[in-house]
Amino acid sequence: MKTSTRLILMLTVTVSALMLLASFLLSREREALLNRSAREEVKAHALTLQSALEEDFRTCRTFDLQQLINRLSQNRGIYGVLLFDATGQAVLVSDALKTKDISYVEEARKVIASNQETDVERRIKDEDVISVILPLQGDSRYRAVEIAQSISYVHEDIRRAQRDIILTTVFVCIAIFLVVTFVTHFNLTLPIRELLGGAQAVGRGDLNYRVIVPRSGGEIRQLAREFNRMADHLATQRAAATREAEERLELERKLRHSERLALAGKMAAGIAHEMGAPLQVIDGRAKQILNQTEASIEMRQRNLTIIRSQAERIARIVRQLLNLARPYTLQLSDIDLRQLLAETLELLETNAAQAGIQLRRETGPAVRVKADPHLLNQVFMNICLNAVQTLTLRRKSDGYVRTEFINDWEDKRGRHFSAVKVIDNGGGIAEEHFPPLFDPFFTTREIGQGTGLGLSVSRRIVEEHGGWIEAANNDEGGATFTVYLPHNAADFTGLPPQQPESAAEATAQDDAISQQT
Ligand code: ADP
Repeated sequence: MKTSTRLILMLTVTVSALMLLASFLLSREREALLNRSAREEVKAHALTLQSALEEDFRTCRTFDLQQLINRLSQNRGIYGVLLFDATGQAVLVSDALKTKDISYVEEARKVIASNQETDVERRIKDEDVISVILPLQGDSRYRAVEIAQSISYVHEDIRRAQRDIILTTVFVCIAIFLVVTFVTHFNLTLPIRELLGGAQAVGRGDLNYRVIVPRSGGEIRQLAREFNRMADHLATQRAAATREAEERLELERKLRHSERLALAGKMAAGIAHEMGAPLQVIDGRAKQILNQTEASIEMRQRNLTIIRSQAERIARIVRQLLNLARPYTLQLSDIDLRQLLAETLELLETNAAQAGIQLRRETGPAVRVKADPHLLNQVFMNICLNAVQTLTLRRKSDGYVRTEFINDWEDKRGRHFSAVKVIDNGGGIAEEHFPPLFDPFFTTREIGQGTGLGLSVSRRIVEEHGGWIEAANNDEGGATFTVYLPHNAADFTGLPPQQPESAAEATAQDDAISQQT
């Protein structure tokens, strides 16, 4: 049920109940008043008649008593007049009465005996009648007189008044209903409906919606004003938030742009790094050809072959860098890791010799894997070059880089791996550098000396083969990088390889294998 309907019903019912109660109380009071005045009227008639009769009896005036009481009974409301003898019998009655209806000897006798007036209320022939009986002095025949008056007109009067009150109540209720309906419709229902519509619109996000403020209406008017003020406030806040978001977006766009620029710079520096190593080799070999004019033809050819292979490597590196974001396509062939490392170290020979670094090659049986030789060459060149660079920077007089091999290591899934360890005594890796060590662009080198791409590219290549790289500090006071490679990269199913549970476990196995080789 709507609030306005409930209000109207409550008001109407309450007012009706109050009016009915008031009318009931009023009609009772009116009835009592009318009864009282009727009694007093009868008594006044009776007293007048009593004193008139007694006066006549005293002066012995003869007159027609019957005519007198008949005339008296013609007064409005007088039901009848009676005169009683000493026994209380009615001896003279007015026309209006029929004697057989009058049989109240007892009351008249009491009045005569006590000489005291009395009044009696009776119902005669469906009429309510009140009587006043007074004693009479001065005549032996008539000892008491009674005047009876009908009070039915009083009841009739009350009934009419009650009917009027009920009718008035009904009219008042209808009027209240109409007025309250009208007032609540225009002052309550319509403004509340308007506010509801506003709240729904704002809820939907339409902050431009404003409610109509009623011209009058006290709190409702204030509520409508406050609602509009709140909508204004929300709209301002939203505009500010939108502006802020746009500004933030613009800032982010700028930030992304500068990040892209920084990334491009880092990439450029990274490319320079990758190119740097083979270019240095080419430079070294070219210098040898130029300086050693009387070198043997074999020596020259060897230097030229190295220069050519490095030029090819540069081209390949460029291709790989261009494909950095795409998966590698491995060109697999049988490789002897021991041979590959010997070639790598040979390429670094000139640089190492200049810095007084020993490159110790380990002899032994071939360590065979099926892998991409060009990509692996890139990996080992990065790792060995890092070791040489670290030693060069530390200017160690007894600096060395050496290799160790693990020919066959079986993981928990029964897959077979070989591993290469590149060990140096260059001072090792700081503890806090281990977590970001393989992150792209992580470097501790001076500007222009390193780009932080070497290890990240190497890890990617090794993982493409189904292997992994471990970095650790060794007891000799340097770093050891171990590259695990599956015997056949073609068997790599894409599952992550099972690394040794602990470095100790791997080392124990390594020692056993080294002894075999
Ligand atoms: P870059 O050599 O250009 O800095 P890398 O990815 O090859 O990039 O190496 C990242 C970092 O790893 C190096 O800056 C260096 O701090 C550390 N690092 C690599 N190899 C060694 C090593 N043999 N000894 C000590 N630190 C090393």
